[in-house]
Amino acid sequence: MVSEYEKPVFKEVLPITKPYLPSFERVKDKISEIFSSGMITNYKYVKELESDVSKYMNVKNAIAVSSCTSGLMLVEKLLNLTGEVILPSFTFSATGHSLMWNNLKPVFVDIDPNTFLIDTEKIEEAITPKTSAILAVHTFGLPSEVKKLQEIADANNLKLIFDSAHAFGSKVDNKYIGQFGDAEVFSSSPTKLMTTGEGGLVTTNNDELAKQIRIGRNYGDDGSYDCKFIGMNARMAEFNAILGIESLKLIEDHIRMREKIVEIYQKELKEIPLAFQRISSNYRTTFKDFAIILDEKEFGLNRDKVAEIMRSQNIITKKYFYPLHKQTAYSDFINSNTKLPITDKISQNILCLPLYAKLSEEDVKKVCYVLKSIYDNRDNLK
Ligand SMILES: *Cc1c(COP(=O)(O)O)cnc(C)c1O
Repeated sequence: MVSEYEKPVFKEVLPITKPYLPSFERVKDKISEIFSSGMITNYKYVKELESDVSKYMNVKNAIAVSSCTSGLMLVEKLLNLTGEVILPSFTFSATGHSLMWNNLKPVFVDIDPNTFLIDTEKIEEAITPKTSAILAVHTFGLPSEVKKLQEIADANNLKLIFDSAHAFGSKVDNKYIGQFGDAEVFSSSPTKLMTTGEGGLVTTNNDELAKQIRIGRNYGDDGSYDCKFIGMNARMAEFNAILGIESLKLIEDHIRMREKIVEIYQKELKEIPLAFQRISSNYRTTFKDFAIILDEKEFGLNRDKVAEIMRSQNIITKKYFYPLHKQTAYSDFINSNTKLPITDKISQNILCLPLYAKLSEEDVKKVCYVLKSIYDNRDNLK
């Protein structure tokens, strides 16, 4: 029986995530080359990564940037967004922060209770004459309803941007995420599947936008030293790109490894009352995170209590996301009309479990054993 007082099921702490890195062998020659030549930025490996990514996703342009946050900031500025932008509150803080840096007003729309994606049925009622764009998120790697969102954007003359931080390798009807909307923005920080250490990528089929982003990541300077607008330094260094080139080669295997782990989770956890993110069959997700929904009425214990007991067993979980409308930084945009009941419910009941490429089958089963035994002992653990 799992209790808070006995020896924990895991002797050592089981992390929630770990990067899946190429072997050092695979990067060392290129690193050694830039070390001896001194070409540690603005050289060929950033270009090589960009070209590899645009081929992989079948998109005309991929522009490497310093982070997903800076990529979003540049895209929003260079699409000339004004006024209000519609986005889910159920996302990582950086999605909203990018808008705030551009003095845009975030307008939160609730999510679908099964997919945790922005509820497309609720977007139109949030549109006002000031709305300039929709910023959707491919949550945990599950693609948003790209076609429907594009229809809404077209019908209302809005730009459509995707925060694709989780979705490197995701697909809709066999088409890779990266080619939808006006632009998509990826993160390659270490918790994401394709990693460059820190960094991001903007992808777009709009050549003019791509050109402007390249200028924008370089202070707004097109090389003439006559800055065309106020940009920033959002460049990626060569070291990061070298890691990215090799990380990209692992991506398909990486996704398959995560799919296998999730299959074990779902099979092992079938007998206890939990819900999972619903994934329709024409969508491929990366399982950037694997979340369970714990309804206190059905499970007998609340999410916080379960997380606490799992921590006592040395299992790290994450109550991801902490919705934006509950964060201090967004308090100016919240009033009595802000009603996001599904976001509130999901964010109170969600728990992300350990998931990374090299997580062993045995450890997944042990995590499931802990969850099942918490459920079996729910009355004593209250
Ligand atoms: C990680 C993440 C970001 C931020 O990415 P950075 O590269 O760290 O700027 C943005 N949005 C979502 C949904 C994320 O998970």
